[in-house]
Amino acid sequence: MAAVSALDGLIHALRRLPGVGVKTASRMAYHMLQHDREGAQLLSQALHEAVGQVRHCELCHTFTIPSICDTCLDDSRDNARLCVVETPADQSAIERTAAFKGLYFVLMGRISPLDGFGPKDIGLEKLIDRASDGVVQEVILATNFTAEGEATAHVLTEALKKRGVQVTRLARGVPVGSELEYVDLGTIAHAMVDRRNA
Ligand code: ZN
Repeated sequence: MAAVSALDGLIHALRRLPGVGVKTASRMAYHMLQHDREGAQLLSQALHEAVGQVRHCELCHTFTIPSICDTCLDDSRDNARLCVVETPADQSAIERTAAFKGLYFVLMGRISPLDGFGPKDIGLEKLIDRASDGVVQEVILATNFTAEGEATAHVLTEALKKRGVQVTRLARGVPVGSELEYVDLGTIAHAMVDRRNA
């Protein structure tokens, strides 16, 4: 019985991943136990290490091991420009374009009332404090061009403008409904260069 419950436990744990139902979880579990025990050990070890070591940067909220991430510590970057993105994947997409040399603030999500995600969950207060520190001159909103990304940009624009912060939004070269991490680099680079006042 113990073996069966360990297998059930594994399937149950795998089902916590987004988009993984009971069938997929079962297939993954059987595959690892039957064909790739070494891979399973690697996965187990990598998960253990990541969960134990990775935390949020104190300044920009992205994932990091030290308390402040490498990007925030890089003094060759323009600390007067702060680019706001939804996820570390979106941040990477912008980094790959090499069109932006400022700093970032990673929301680690978006405002989504249906999922119970409000302004507090994206660190709005912290972003406002950061943007009004006297060093930041421009906040560039690079949230996705989805309904939720646009709604988030709207809330951020209102809150930041009240504090007298200059706010810009990526230009409309990025297709409506799209997420930055899936947009080609040239399009993102143009959208960054042609950003407009929000
Ligand atoms: Zn950082």
